[in-house]
Amino acid sequence: MNIILFGPPGAGKGTQAKKLQDEYSIPHLSTGDIFRAAIKNKTPLGVKVKSILDSGELVPDQTVVDLVADELSNDKYQDGYILDGFPRTVVQAKAFDVFLDKNNDNLDAFISLSVPEDELVKRILSRGEGRSDDTVEKIKTRLKVYRKETQPVIEHYKKQDKVQEIDGTGSIDEIFDRIKAALQ
Ligand code: ADP
Repeated sequence: MNIILFGPPGAGKGTQAKKLQDEYSIPHLSTGDIFRAAIKNKTPLGVKVKSILDSGELVPDQTVVDLVADELSNDKYQDGYILDGFPRTVVQAKAFDVFLDKNNDNLDAFISLSVPEDELVKRILSRGEGRSDDTVEKIKTRLKVYRKETQPVIEHYKKQDKVQEIDGTGSIDEIFDRIKAALQ
């Protein structure tokens, strides 16, 4: 089962992706986590993307697409995966279509978590992960980038009839139950 977990910053993609990973035993791939680990370890990729993540803008499409294609070639993703944070632009979504096609594979579900903007800001500020992009200014940038670059990705998958919109408010378990119901 190949799943895209989609939504704005603070929607709870990471939290729900981890729960899905445990429930269905399929690995979770978070591009944000990969970038943060690369930055922490000062790898060439980390050095390249550090200032971009700090600013709240997006890493160039080609860099992300190459990274995801490379990561997904790993055996552990053979029986499926949960994508979190990718695709984040229509260019990335189109590249992912080509990738799936080449691998004779397809997307099973596109789960879109919706949460009102004021709630997103509150959640990010209160989660206290100490991320350099979790300041009020950077959150504003990330939401602006989300609206302009990322939201159009929903339309891309609507054309494929793949989108399932899930109410992302309530308790973690309530949201998880909604996602599980959508995946049945
Ligand atoms: P959030 O959803 O809370 O913004 P992520 O961990 O998904 O957090 O992403 C953090 C940052 O990593 C983004 O602001 C962006 O700079 C970079 N990033 C992650 N995924 C992508 C992607 N698919 N395309 C471009 N940049 C990305």
